[in-house]
Amino acid sequence: MRPFIFFSFLLIWHHSVGAWDYELHRFVNQIALKTLPDSFPAFVRTTEAAERIAYLSGEPDRWRNSNEGALKHVNETDHFFNIEDLESLGLRLDELTGFREEFVASIVTARMQKSALFELNWASMGPNRNRWVPGLLPWKLAEEYGRLKSGFSCLKTFEQHGGQTLEIVNAQASVVQVMGVMGHFAGDAAQPLHTTRHYNGWVGLNPSRYTTNRTFHAWIDGGFIRKSGLDKEAILRRVRPARLLWKSSNPSDIEPVFSLTLNFVREQFTQVDVFYSAEKSGALKGAGTAVGRNLMETQLLKAGQFLGDLWYSAWILAPKDFFLQSALARRKLAESEK
Ligand SMILES: [Zn+2]
Repeated sequence: MRPFIFFSFLLIWHHSVGAWDYELHRFVNQIALKTLPDSFPAFVRTTEAAERIAYLSGEPDRWRNSNEGALKHVNETDHFFNIEDLESLGLRLDELTGFREEFVASIVTARMQKSALFELNWASMGPNRNRWVPGLLPWKLAEEYGRLKSGFSCLKTFEQHGGQTLEIVNAQASVVQVMGVMGHFAGDAAQPLHTTRHYNGWVGLNPSRYTTNRTFHAWIDGGFIRKSGLDKEAILRRVRPARLLWKSSNPSDIEPVFSLTLNFVREQFTQVDVFYSAEKSGALKGAGTAVGRNLMETQLLKAGQFLGDLWYSAWILAPKDFFLQSALARRKLAESEK
């Protein structure tokens, strides 16, 4: 019987519910677009590109609707991070590695250190075999930032070293794709219920007597705003210009992007109590109070600002792609020798 105890201990409350509704994810990406300075590449602001970026905010949730096990296995855990679960796993928030696989391995290592009887029983880990992972949202967001930087590196190199028009257009399309998809995860990160095991009503000890209602998540994701309305123009007026998230005089420094995404998620985790107590006070009931509406608007704004900062920083900090540069130089040479 003992191993069974360890398995059940290991199972994580998984977020089987959605995220901000598509309309709100779209709006987060639109806020982020609004933060970009005029100096930012203009191709992202054409009507088509802006619509594509808004549309792609919903893409990772569309993947959730698929029945493909291999996709669900990796995609489901990218949308949340249950911070409280670290403790039972024997892990500390301020000691986490920014490398996804290393973090996943550290969960197994921590378990093995706690019990010589520990073994991973895959059949008990849910249909998609991932119910032992407390979520990977901060890693996913950092990875998407890396993809965007790579896209900008490629684009800059094509632009500056003789890329053909179609190559430049394709590199721009890749940038638009990553900007849109990564926006989804910035949006999720600003939904406080995506940072906690209390993601859909309070679970376990409940001294503050918060709601245990299993509709709370859907209510915060969109039900409340459908009822209360959202003054998009007022939110867009509060936007500040995107800023560089990180500066260093030493070019060999590695950007601390994971610590930025982790810190962002950690900050939103502090809002879990705030949201539950707002629910308790009635501020989120029906069309809500000014306090309740402001809470929601502030989270959407935070998501859009952070996303805009990530986009802007990826563009500024993307180095040249030297591999591509030398390939373009060889091509140019071969053409001149014809
Ligand atoms: Zn999501």
